[in-house]
Formats: sequence, C-alpha cells, structure tokens
Amino acid sequence: MQKGAIRVQTENIFPIIKKFLYSDHEIFIRELVSNAVDATQKLKTLASVGEFKGELGALEITVKLDKEKKTLTISDRGVGMTAEEVDKYINQVAFSGAEEFLTKYKGQGDGTNIIGHFGLGFYSSFMVSNEVEIITKSHKEGVAAVRWECDGSPEYTLEETTKEDRGTDIVMHINEESEEFLDEHRIQTILEKFCKFLPVPVKFGDKQI
Ligand code: ADP
Ligand code: MG
Repeated sequence: MQKGAIRVQTENIFPIIKKFLYSDHEIFIRELVSNAVDATQKLKTLASVGEFKGELGALEITVKLDKEKKTLTISDRGVGMTAEEVDKYINQVAFSGAEEFLTKYKGQGDGTNIIGHFGLGFYSSFMVSNEVEIITKSHKEGVAAVRWECDGSPEYTLEETTKEDRGTDIVMHINEESEEFLDEHRIQTILEKFCKFLPVPVKFGDKQI
C-alpha cells in the first residue's frame, strides 16, 4: 500500500470546498458523470485508431445508490487509470486546480457556478462526501486494479485491489448534511437535468436517463 499526502498547501480541502460551493452541491453529479463520459470517449478513440484491441462491450455509465451503506457510486467502462495515472491526475493535478480556485476566490463569498471553470471536477465529490473511493482498472493489459481512498484531508491511500472489469467506480460515502443525495427521486431529477443527450448512455437502477 502506498500512503502519501496530496500536494496542496491547504490543510483540509473538504471544508473549503463546502464553504465556497454551498448553494450548488448537486453539480458534483455533473462533474463525475462528465469524467465518466470523457473516459469512455477516450477508449472509443483508442479503439478507433487501433491502440485498444480488446472488446469494447457495453459502454454505459451506471449510477447506483446504496441507502444502507450510504453510498452513491458512479461507474464507467472507459479507459480506467493505472496507479501512476491516479497519482498524476488525482493526487497531483486535481488539487492544483483547487489551489488555483482558492487563490482566485479568497475572500469572495459566493462561489456558485465557478467550480467547473477551475477543473475542480473530481474533487467536487467532497462537497457531499466524508470519504471518496476510486476503484479503477486500466484498459492497458496486465495492469493491476487500484483503490484510492481519501477523507478530504490531504492524506490518501492507494493500494492494489481486484476488479473484474476495466473502468472506474467512484464511490462516495455521503455525509450527514447531504443525505438528500441518498434519495432516488432527487438523484433521478439531477440526472435528468444534467445528463440527458450525452454521447454515452447513463443508467440509474434499471432505467436509462
Ligand atoms: P478534468 O476532467 O477537468 O481533467 P477532473 O478533476 O474532473 O478534471 O479529473 C481529473 C483527471 O482525473 C481527469 O482528467 C482524468 O485524467 C482523471 N479521471 C477522473 N475521472 C476519471 C474516470 N472516471 N476515468 C478515468 N480517468 C478519470
Ligand atoms: Mg472533469
């Protein structure tokens, strides 16, 4: 298992993200679904130029609620990430987006609607979660699946895991103040708002959005 600290000066990103984006929490779904779409589109591109030779199979994005575990999971069968890629794109790059965001908006109360412009993307999941897991397996052959976990402090863990299918699961452990996101109707409404007409089908339960 690898342990490390995400490179950021800010001590704990979680309360900061919450403070700045208080009124617009639901956009985390848009951010995570669009990452899933990007990952899927990348795989299609690799397949079309002959760099990915495996079976594409069903390329849908699935959203799952587990009320008992209080988790919301967004899964794709896109390119996935190797341990090195998680390190590069999640541990290093993503928090630099957060830092840029903070520098620009320090002292300004209203951060509504600006999260997207700063590529805070993935980290918007911490607005509603007290812990986020990434379970991902790269499309590249012979690469182990990895599990990344972080509770919103700069400390994360990254370890090998087993995952049958290629692609990525983002598991959000929804925090107490955000339990509205454990409600099926709420999720359905948000998905209908943000996730219609995407190039990859999105499924919630058995239903396609
Ligand atoms: P952006 O999408 O603007 O690059 P994000 O914070 O949303 O910023 O994501 C950071 C990076 O993490 C992405 O560029 C991508 O490399 C990686 N990533 C995030 N989600 C996924 C996913 N579902 N599958 C593969 N890679 C992902
Ligand atoms: Mg993104």
